[in-house]
Amino acid sequence: MSKNKRGKALWRMPSRARGTCPICGSTRIKLLYLGKDAAGEKLNVCKKCDGKQAAV
Ligand SMILES: [Zn+2]
Repeated sequence: MSKNKRGKALWRMPSRARGTCPICGSTRIKLLYLGKDAAGEKLNVCKKCDGKQAAV
């Protein structure tokens, strides 16, 4: 497996893997980790919020 969270792979992702984290609200951060929204749906979150669920 290649590194999916580093380098050129990020450039191929929509918005180059960057955005605003839906949980902590950090802007222009890499959203490469899986968390959950308040309803338990899968959500892309930042490294800090890896595995977390958004507050209801
Ligand atoms: Zn976050």
